[in-house]
Amino acid sequence: MIIILRSDVSEDQLQHVLERVESLGFRTHLSRGTYRTIIGLIGDETKISPEPLKAIPGVADVVPVLPPYKLASREAHPQPSIVNVSGVKIGGGHLAMIAGPCSVEEPERMNTIAAAIKEAGANILRGGAYKPRTSPYAFQGLGEEGLKILRDTGDRYGLPVVTEVTDPRCVDVVDQYADMIQVGARNMQNFVLLTEVGRTSKPVLLKRGMSATVQDLLMSAEYILSQGNSQVVLCERGVKGFDTVTRNLYDVASVAVVKGLSHLPIIVDPSHATGRPDLIPPCALAGVAVGADGVHIEVHDCPEKAKSDGPQALLPRQYAELAEQIRKLAAMFGKTISRAGQE
Ligand code: PEP
Ligand code: MN
Repeated sequence: MIIILRSDVSEDQLQHVLERVESLGFRTHLSRGTYRTIIGLIGDETKISPEPLKAIPGVADVVPVLPPYKLASREAHPQPSIVNVSGVKIGGGHLAMIAGPCSVEEPERMNTIAAAIKEAGANILRGGAYKPRTSPYAFQGLGEEGLKILRDTGDRYGLPVVTEVTDPRCVDVVDQYADMIQVGARNMQNFVLLTEVGRTSKPVLLKRGMSATVQDLLMSAEYILSQGNSQVVLCERGVKGFDTVTRNLYDVASVAVVKGLSHLPIIVDPSHATGRPDLIPPCALAGVAVGADGVHIEVHDCPEKAKSDGPQALLPRQYAELAEQIRKLAAMFGKTISRAGQE
């Protein structure tokens, strides 16, 4: 950690800062420049927070050298992490192909969609049983009944399943049915929920909040990792923008940023990022090109009857075409796509 002193710092103030940090167990390295004096702290930076040091008179700024997300950082783990979702690998050169409807629907429809996405090459089935809706009057999901339908459908087609948990009280029940637990954008900073999913042994799909910075996302991942669950996959799903031309602003560069900062896999969700079926295929490909470890796409065989997010659903035929293009791009980058049910 580096302490930058104010240009008008007095000698007494400087001595006080040195005494203070030395009393905290750090050795110091003083550097008096022409305009500014700085103090380098030598010791375990993780044992101290910059916040109280900034309150010492004469201190202009405190700059940590290490990122605050210790476990999620590349420093902690230089090699990319590979998350295993019931046999499907994500990260370290393995792409996730997550697809399915926004909400879990009745079994026949789930069968139709699962059969189509499996045929197209998807390796994980998605569907929400607990839906975080803006309106309390909108469809809220089928609850535990939906979890059962999703589980049965996944088992029938040999696809692991991912589904969202919106409430810490539902973590146990979701854990019983899901292969991977999703924490949605609206709950990215629900710290109680993050702690609870961190206590499970299931892989977690953590979506970026719609007004969260990359650092916020990594700090939320840190909540899960610090509970002992190392199986975290991040997801870029767009942030709030000023333009209504797309549902959100697809921050595709964040994928490359995260790759530099963290060892955790990160996938893209162009469905929620753009909200437009015409933009989903090019934006999915852009995500893979920029280094994403997978794509998460909403697919429905009859979008006009979808219980939620119908307007942004790809038809199975459109998904199959996109999946074919993703395979070509993946091959170009030397990435593999695990087939569900095969190690
Ligand atoms: C979803 O996956 O259906 C969903 C609600 O996504 P997000 O949390 O990214 O809005
Ligand atoms: Mn959705």
